[in-house]
Amino acid sequence: MQKLTMVIHGGAGTIVKEDMTTELENVYLQGLQEALNAGYAVLEEGGTAVNAVKAAVVILEDNVLFNAGRGSVFTKKGVQEMDAAIMDGSNLEAGAVTGIRNVRNPIELATEVMRHSDHVFVAGKGANDFAIKQGIKLEPDDYFFSQYRYNQWKAIRDSDGTSLDHTHQDATELLRDKKFGTVGAVACDKNGNVAAATSTGGLTNKKFGRIGDTPVIGGGTYANNETCAISCTGEGEVFIRAVAAYDVHAIMQYKGENLQKAAEEVVLHKLVKMKGEGGLIGVDPQGNAAMVFNSAGMYRGVKSNDGTNEVAIYK
Ligand code: ASP
Repeated sequence: MQKLTMVIHGGAGTIVKEDMTTELENVYLQGLQEALNAGYAVLEEGGTAVNAVKAAVVILEDNVLFNAGRGSVFTKKGVQEMDAAIMDGSNLEAGAVTGIRNVRNPIELATEVMRHSDHVFVAGKGANDFAIKQGIKLEPDDYFFSQYRYNQWKAIRDSDGTSLDHTHQDATELLRDKKFGTVGAVACDKNGNVAAATSTGGLTNKKFGRIGDTPVIGGGTYANNETCAISCTGEGEVFIRAVAAYDVHAIMQYKGENLQKAAEEVVLHKLVKMKGEGGLIGVDPQGNAAMVFNSAGMYRGVKSNDGTNEVAIYK
């Protein structure tokens, strides 16, 4: 029997129990479970891996706790600019958007780019124009606002630094502390097709039109039925230079390693050497899942028709 598998993440980094109240922890776990269930329901009803990853990411984008869609972090200019990508491992089609504003669900726009444009990667104003043309739902700035993210930004906006998500309020700690936000999903459907989707607000106080790994195909997002589907979270600049998501695929394809081994080689060795903190989730066409991170924690979850159903935060 084909194994149906849904895997999600909500960011990685210095996520430690001491910083969390039980209530907050439960709200995070609930948010993860909700997204996991939404994606898995698509697979259970016989839907495609692409539709499953999109469904899971939409739920995480709508959840203000995660740095994607609603609740995205603020740029140096005090606005939210979001990135997203989706890839279908069955045909290697992909869609990605960067620097977009006011789009309620960036992953919907990335999917629209994949399905209904002649392009793979679109940016900024042009991407927003495409969203309007395709009837993608827009929201006013207020919709994306969260006090928590605003305070994070206020603490460092006069400095030159950027900071990763889920951080403490103190400015020096903000710059030192490393916690990431970004959401992602990978899935394997009843036909053994795999897909990956990733969405983010990026880094607090990012400037000059900075783009992270999330929408970069092969960097933060990749899917190929011959090997695996991967969604990353972590220090985007390093993940881009490591071509992290594609590297897991390449190790499987050219070295013949399994998913878990390939993911560990990239996250626990290559990225560590390059000082790239973070992690990734993956799935192969047999429905095997991997969730590997070199940080203190990673918001994550996995659900499968073999009875697996877990959400977790810490190591
Ligand atoms: N990888 C994301 C970026 O660099 C950040 C994150 O995962 O939190 O934009």
